[in-house]
Amino acid sequence: MLPVDLPDAVRDALLAPLVDHHCHGVRRDDLSRAQFELLIGESRTPAPPGTTHFDTPLGAAIRRWCAPVLDLEPHVAPAVYLGRRQELGAGEVNRRLLQASGVVAFLVDTGLEAPDLLSAAEMGRHGGAAADEIVRLEQVEQDIADSAAVAVDYMDSLGEELVARAARAVGLKSIIAYRCGLDFDPSRPSRGSVIAAANRRLSDPRERLVDPILLRHLLWTAVDVARDRALPIQFHTGYGDADLDMSRADPAQMTGFIRALQPLGIPVVLLHCYPFHRQAAYLASVFPHVYVDVGLTLTHTAAGSARILDELLELVPFHKQLFSSDCYGLAEGCHLGAVYFRLGMAGALGRRVESGEWSAADAARVAHMAGSGNARRVYRL
Ligand SMILES: [Zn+2]
Repeated sequence: MLPVDLPDAVRDALLAPLVDHHCHGVRRDDLSRAQFELLIGESRTPAPPGTTHFDTPLGAAIRRWCAPVLDLEPHVAPAVYLGRRQELGAGEVNRRLLQASGVVAFLVDTGLEAPDLLSAAEMGRHGGAAADEIVRLEQVEQDIADSAAVAVDYMDSLGEELVARAARAVGLKSIIAYRCGLDFDPSRPSRGSVIAAANRRLSDPRERLVDPILLRHLLWTAVDVARDRALPIQFHTGYGDADLDMSRADPAQMTGFIRALQPLGIPVVLLHCYPFHRQAAYLASVFPHVYVDVGLTLTHTAAGSARILDELLELVPFHKQLFSSDCYGLAEGCHLGAVYFRLGMAGALGRRVESGEWSAADAARVAHMAGSGNARRVYRL
């Protein structure tokens, strides 16, 4: 898979086990073609009549790299691939693809937990890997909004529940980018404003939380918990599904909040970032507590991902870059994330060694840091 002229030390470092610091459960059930196609890409809608989501960078990547894991030739037709998937059954397909990724630890965002998705522990069992939980803040808030009677209850229970959930987790995650955008007021909201907003919230708790005051309150409550337990906070930034207003997902828009967290020393992990990965690399280079990955961008841009990794590496400090697959629903996403991370890094590192810019030992060290070492340090695995 890796270029033949890559120095052995770099090859070994790239093929070493990875820590996937951000992923979701994959589907446990056998999928019809329509169900499978809905999970190719982030649109979550069927392809227009007469077309297929297999005609995307990700669709082509599945046929190229996942087919051999299911004992097929590369580039087989989608129907052949899906037929083989059916024949093997979801359990075997998940085991093969998760194990082929060479991931040794999954950090699973459990905020999307559903009966048809593997739990964090099951991801570990299927992948032959360790598994830990990342707590999604907005999901905890939704549970509290559903059960709290009055605003004071809401505030107290939110704090208590975050403490309890954080005790079993290795990190927290915010999707505030989806809810009010990253250009939010970075200050902690006043208690009076939170109580007034909570009263409004509790009059219709089933609604998705979009109130910036309560979202900021949630985040600052999480900051208190993260500081006490020395947990990193992940932020969705950049590329996501159609729910997202991309123009408000540039991580540079949350510079004020990042600055406010600096004295607290809480690691801020910027997820995905594309197409703002250069802004993210800049933030990681100027703030000591900021970390970045390009996550699902690897899978979704597939053959184009090498260029994106290269752009990230223009500026990102080597001790700030992480690997994640961000797989969701399809175990193919996990395998492909690992494939394109290794291919992209091999190209970028190989060129630096070849030009004499870096030694092979330096390149191997960077590959190890980005693939697993940085995640182990940041999440204290
Ligand atoms: Zn994700």
